[in-house]
Amino acid sequence: MALDVDGLGQGKIARAILLQPIHLVISGMNPQITSVEAILVDLPTIRAHQLSMATMQHQTMVIIRLRASDDIEGIGEATTIGGLSYGEESPEGIKLTIDTYLAPVLVGQDATNINDVMLKLNKAARGNRFAKSGIETALLDAQGKRLGVPLSALLGGSVRKTLPVLWTLASGDTHRDIEEAETLLAERRHDTFKLKIGRRTVRDDVAHVSKIKAALGDRARITVDVNQAWNEIDAALGIAALEAAGIDLIEQPTPREQRGALARLAARFIVPIMADEGVTGPEDALDLVRGSCADVFALKIAKSGGIYAMMRTAAVADAAGVALYGGTMLEGSIGSIASAHGFSALPQLSWGTELFGPLLLKDDVVTARPQYRDFDLHIPEGPGLGLQIDEEKLAFYRRDKQA
Ligand SMILES: [Mg+2]
Repeated sequence: MALDVDGLGQGKIARAILLQPIHLVISGMNPQITSVEAILVDLPTIRAHQLSMATMQHQTMVIIRLRASDDIEGIGEATTIGGLSYGEESPEGIKLTIDTYLAPVLVGQDATNINDVMLKLNKAARGNRFAKSGIETALLDAQGKRLGVPLSALLGGSVRKTLPVLWTLASGDTHRDIEEAETLLAERRHDTFKLKIGRRTVRDDVAHVSKIKAALGDRARITVDVNQAWNEIDAALGIAALEAAGIDLIEQPTPREQRGALARLAARFIVPIMADEGVTGPEDALDLVRGSCADVFALKIAKSGGIYAMMRTAAVADAAGVALYGGTMLEGSIGSIASAHGFSALPQLSWGTELFGPLLLKDDVVTARPQYRDFDLHIPEGPGLGLQIDEEKLAFYRRDKQA
């Protein structure tokens, strides 16, 4: 068939003229991101919280407010632990990254196409997963509000309405820790307790943990988080003693880069070994699975770079038969509830969660704080995250508040 070159060209032009206004109308229908604000907030904690790398007296969070042309606002949170002592992003750095580099990419984008927005962010900025996670939460919160559905509905729906939440005993004092655990058991708030160890000698840490386990017996599950503080030799000695004491789970005993050490420990002991710092996103998960490095993965939306990336990490674990645990960066209510929506949508979550961040804070920047009872966190059912900013509290706790 002979081509009518001239006719084809005219047709193309005609179609282009015809399609252009329609395209504009379609894109005009979708709300665009109009502004992104990153606010540093310092909230006091109920007590000093001792970790192997830092002692926290307050928690600093970056609260993100993302507004769109349909007047809907989404909120998100990017929070890390102890400045730069845990992660590679500091609160101040997260704010700078958002203000200087991410907000200009976001403004003008279709607020409803979260996959496309996140792809553009990932092209514009490498890494910076905490900042990206907070922005993704704000986009999902706004879209949930827009459609009148909970955030988990945007993930395909929740398979659990509540999540088991453990509590970290981190006063550093054995008797105080036992008293705290007894009170929380009696209140039916927590029945699993995690101990942050690795600051003291292995012998002292094992003695501390063993006394707490002996006091609580079968009434509570006890786990330990070493936060990478041990070398392989100390880890082998420590885990052998902790296993004998009846400890249920050992979290990240050795440095995250030393995957061989983790694999040898996982093969050597019956007590499950969990990777936390060692598993950020799906790529790490794949490497850990290939090396049979861990029995359990700790998932966190911040370290993965958002809820969707966390779910992709979980998919790798599911494929390999690795158990899952819902971790925290000690976020406040916004970040914790964002995590909760994500964790609620996972097919398996056999080790529960540690979403107790809001309980560690004396005060909050949301109007209704998350509900904890009968050993579970009850996930809000309202649109989006199901949370509202308390404007007065936010004005009071923001670092740049007007005197
Ligand atoms: Mg950990």
